[in-house]
Amino acid sequence: MKGYAMLRIGEAGWIEKAEPVCGPLDAVCRPVALAPCSSDIHTVYEGGVGERHDMVLGHEAVGEVVEVGTSVRDIKVGDRVIIPAITPDWSSIAAQDGYPMHSGGALGGWKFSNTKDGVFAEFIHVNDADANLAVLPEGIPAETGAMLSDMATTGLHGAELAQIRPGDTTVVIGIGPVGLMSVAGAAILGAGRLFAVGSRPTCIEVAKQFGATDIVNYREGDIVEQIMEATGGRGVDRVVVAGGDLGTFQQAFDVLKPGGRIGNVNYLGEGDALRISRESFLVGMGHKHLVGGLTPGGRRRMERMTELVLAGRIHPEKMITHRFTGLEHVEDGVELMRQKPRDLIKPVITV
Ligand code: NDP
Ligand code: ZN
Repeated sequence: MKGYAMLRIGEAGWIEKAEPVCGPLDAVCRPVALAPCSSDIHTVYEGGVGERHDMVLGHEAVGEVVEVGTSVRDIKVGDRVIIPAITPDWSSIAAQDGYPMHSGGALGGWKFSNTKDGVFAEFIHVNDADANLAVLPEGIPAETGAMLSDMATTGLHGAELAQIRPGDTTVVIGIGPVGLMSVAGAAILGAGRLFAVGSRPTCIEVAKQFGATDIVNYREGDIVEQIMEATGGRGVDRVVVAGGDLGTFQQAFDVLKPGGRIGNVNYLGEGDALRISRESFLVGMGHKHLVGGLTPGGRRRMERMTELVLAGRIHPEKMITHRFTGLEHVEDGVELMRQKPRDLIKPVITV
């Protein structure tokens, strides 16, 4: 089969690979809608998770099931399914501990385009099919479904990690597609004043539609100064980090009130150590929390995302700015994610 792959750090291209073999609990799908992720760019061009050779890229997909294993009960050949970016082994101890995304070791639920071939290929292998695949409801277009596989669940996870409470003054740093879904998630969880930090006009427009009350442009001034001024020096209760770099965490700690929480979903592809000043850590006694996490995946999580779409609470389709038809255009989509033109939020490739 044909697939668009990471050849080595710094290089991607088309390769031929053997078709996947379907084990008893597995399914094999053909792609229906695919989306490249910023994570694909970190992985190939920054070597974020280390060297990989001839590994098919991509982890955001809606597919059509073409084969199921002998022990698969719910998923049927012909089903249109959301293939989540994170496909844990649900019988693992980590899953029983409440962290299925770390099944089989740290980040082990992230298999596609990390430890096995991803979804940018003619066939996609899915482990634990009944526990990982969610049938796409009638009424949700495939391209919208593809936005749920990673962007919606990851963005919402940022808001969950920050444990946003009703009325919390919240800032979402980074409003690419992940941060935009964090803005939507913060709004759903009941954030009060909701700052969104970014600069691309298309993203800013959607951030407002998703519930941002204030826009902070990080290119036009220091975000700490802007947020402290806007809050009368009080700072914020919650921060979701969905963009920026290692230096962003110092800014997050600087704007955070005592007792505040930072939820990070940004993939830190470059840099060395995270440094937080003693002062902004309130000399070690400020009850400031920082947690970073890989999104949950799996069937039930995807079903929850579809419930949010069907109830009209999230509108991930508004993030689709570029559309292609044909598997061969995966390459164009990846290149767009690499270049990040100002009018881009998210490309989708319909196959
Ligand atoms: P984008 O590149 O589209 O968005 C990044 C955002 O951060 C943009 O709004 C950008 O602003 C802003 N930004 C960039 N630099 C700074 C800065 N110095 N200070 C403040 N804001 C800044 O990325 P995505 O939304 O596609 O993805 C976000 C991250 O989430 C990526 O690292 C991705 O790999 C990761 N990710 C994590 C997952 C997880 O499970 N934890 C899963 C999927 C993705 P501008 O408007 O100027 O572009
Ligand atoms: Zn991703």
